[in-house]
Amino acid sequence: MSTNDLLAELAAGVRGDVQADPVSRALYATDASIYQIMPAAVVLSLDEADVAAALRVARRRQVPILPRGGGTSLAGQAVGQAIHLDFTKYMCRLLELNAAEGWAWVEPGMVLDRLNGLLAAHGLMFAPDISPSNRATIGGMIGNNSSGMYSLVYGKTIDHVLELRVMLSDGSVVHMGPLSEEELRAKLTLDSLEGRVYRTVHRLAHEHADEIARRFPRLLRRVGGYNLDAFVPADGGRGFNLANIIVGSEGTLGVILAAKLRLVPRPRHTAIGILAFETLDDALDAVVPCLECRPAAVELMDDLLLDLTRKSRQYAQYLASFVRGEPAALLQVEFFGESEAEGLAGRDGWERPRGPPAGSFPRAVTPAEKQAVLQVRKAGLPLLQSLSPDLRPETFVEDSAVPPERLGDYIRRFRAICHEHGVRVAFYGHASVGLMHARPLLNLKDAADVRTMRRIAEEIKDLVIAFGGALSGEHGDGLLRSEFCRELFGEALYEAFREIKRSFDPRGLLNPGKIVDAPPMDANLRYGPGYRVALPLETHFRFRDTGGMAGAVELCNGNALCRKTAGGTMCPSYMVTRDEEHSTRGRANALRMVLSGALPAAELTGERMREVMDLCLECKGCTGECPSRVNMTRLKSEWLAHYHAAHGVPLRARLFGNIHTLSRVASAAAPLANALLGMPGAGLLGERLLGISRHRRLPRFAREPFHAWFERTRAERPAGLGRPPVVLFPDPFTPYTDPEAGAAAVRVPAT
Ligand SMILES: Cc1cc2nc3c(=O)[nH]c(=O)nc-3n(C[C@H](O)[C@H](O)[C@H](O)COP(=O)(O)OP(=O)(O)OC[C@H]3O[C@@H](n4cnc5c(N)ncnc54)[C@H](O)[C@@H]3O)c2cc1C
Ligand code: SF4
Repeated sequence: MSTNDLLAELAAGVRGDVQADPVSRALYATDASIYQIMPAAVVLSLDEADVAAALRVARRRQVPILPRGGGTSLAGQAVGQAIHLDFTKYMCRLLELNAAEGWAWVEPGMVLDRLNGLLAAHGLMFAPDISPSNRATIGGMIGNNSSGMYSLVYGKTIDHVLELRVMLSDGSVVHMGPLSEEELRAKLTLDSLEGRVYRTVHRLAHEHADEIARRFPRLLRRVGGYNLDAFVPADGGRGFNLANIIVGSEGTLGVILAAKLRLVPRPRHTAIGILAFETLDDALDAVVPCLECRPAAVELMDDLLLDLTRKSRQYAQYLASFVRGEPAALLQVEFFGESEAEGLAGRDGWERPRGPPAGSFPRAVTPAEKQAVLQVRKAGLPLLQSLSPDLRPETFVEDSAVPPERLGDYIRRFRAICHEHGVRVAFYGHASVGLMHARPLLNLKDAADVRTMRRIAEEIKDLVIAFGGALSGEHGDGLLRSEFCRELFGEALYEAFREIKRSFDPRGLLNPGKIVDAPPMDANLRYGPGYRVALPLETHFRFRDTGGMAGAVELCNGNALCRKTAGGTMCPSYMVTRDEEHSTRGRANALRMVLSGALPAAELTGERMREVMDLCLECKGCTGECPSRVNMTRLKSEWLAHYHAAHGVPLRARLFGNIHTLSRVASAAAPLANALLGMPGAGLLGERLLGISRHRRLPRFAREPFHAWFERTRAERPAGLGRPPVVLFPDPFTPYTDPEAGAAAVRVPAT
């Protein structure tokens, strides 16, 4: 079936947005992982009816469906050759809140920070505290069973999902929640897909109770496989709630339409203590003693990250504000308390009874210093990314977890494996729950490094199994780890997982190839040995720092910070439109796909690319805020030059390109220029000729430009008073249309 047929059929049934042109599909070909697969189409569903319509087309056409949130997944579960159902634009509302009983119903596209912002007035929050909270969605968190730094206190998403409304693969909509024995018996007798999946999960959990006890890692942090363990009464005591199998199922069993979430009170006070160590080993050995003091979190940073932070112009000051000397590892130990005293008591607790752990220099952190600690935590990954243009801190063994008491031995062996392969690796993360984020530095464009990646992944898988750990404690299986599920869980449980998948999704339409029956982890790579720059451009900028324009767009690793909708500047066009194509990531991906030949060369200066680039304000928000340092301002200027070369320079661009000269002339004849601009019809003419909205108030030209005012008033200003000079660079608008702004700026140093 052609893409056009698919588009037509989707458009006929879906009232939300449907996109199937190559550029739109390319925007959804990646998430934050190392993978890339071109989708079949993209649907931004308006409501349940749209989801049902898309699923009908998928069934009729035998094209898979992939539900998607913010696309921040790190294991590739949000990419696939499927119809992507994006919930973030429309299906993102808070449906019902009962603060007294502590629950809320929300749609899947709701972003975590936005939800918690709405709950703050009630002193409540949805507890799993993932780090991309400003762009990751509830649907994605449920899909991945996400959790964060404070999982010691709050557990994982599964611990906070009460009920779900789910569309099954046959289009039926079912409600999943805790059931009494009698209710469960009724479900088991249903003659429908719903009845069938209840029977399958119920039977498999009983048949495999012993194997589950034997093979499921006994860890707080295990998110791989299907949650069959949640249905074994002796294990979880959760009661039978089919929602538990949907949590962590990565969109492979059903489409979540709404979720009833448990809400918890916000912690009133927190306190942090810093432990600094001369070796990473000492830090790892201190984790268990720290846990005896019942902290909310113990976070670790290793020597590679600390060294990079110390050398960073931007972040060194933050580190220096709470760390003395040059330790090789840090533990940040955080406590919650109902009062400040309680939080501080917890913090002091680790020190008093037993003295500081060996090799450490304890340093308490005041509330004012917390901000610095947060900055240092945030700095780690971007600093690693900037280490070398070729080597990247790759995500493929990045979130395994082992029992905390075995963490030291595990990391020592982990490091040895990487070193045997001649690969540097950085460690940071949630020591309190035995979960270390590990980022080996590799160049996946190089065939040898892809082979090394695979070997390291296999050896770490064996190590994890030997330590009774979990291959994923946080980010899920996706395309990265599903291949290894059989070995981790054993033949019997893996076959049980496959049976669950077949029972829910007999035609294999829901995000296939994740958790079970997955392709090899080294297939479908975004950058693989075959990756090349297929469209070498003569560029106007040199792009020296990134080795060319392609390198500048490749900086984007898909982490999607540019999809935040509050705080900071990046990215204003996304904040307003909520369209992936108007985010920095969307633009970088569109350019990369053309430069790498995944899209035809003609797309570079085509109409779709113009639409993607058009709303970029060149505000430089991303230059300062993007953790991967994507500089879309420069890229847009470069792209615009190529676009104009292909299509000619429009009058509007010529006018603004010469705005300084034109403004000088208009200012010299200010009364006339202002009268002309104020005439009836001037707005309309400006709109027709130059594309400037007629609703915009046009600027008025000053009779006395800023520099003339500056000279005239020079004598009135006090001399320098021995202070260093301040240099003012007026932009092209300040002298002639905004001289008051310039004058105000001149007055500031004088005050
Ligand atoms: C820099 C960075 C830091 C991260 N830190 C953390 C962290 O601290 N903790 C953590 O747990 N994870 C972390 N992650 C991973 C990721 O952000 C989380 O798993 C997050 O919850 C994914 O949310 P999302 O909205 O982006 O989902 P997506 O990536 O869009 O989707 C995730 C999965 O859920 C499925 N899904 C989405 N919506 C639905 C639906 N309506 N119905 C059924 N299935 C659905 C998708 O098919 C997919 O399989 C991090 C990622 C990045 C890039
Ligand atoms: S420069 Fe463009 S891409 Fe970057 S934040 Fe501004 S509008 Fe977004």
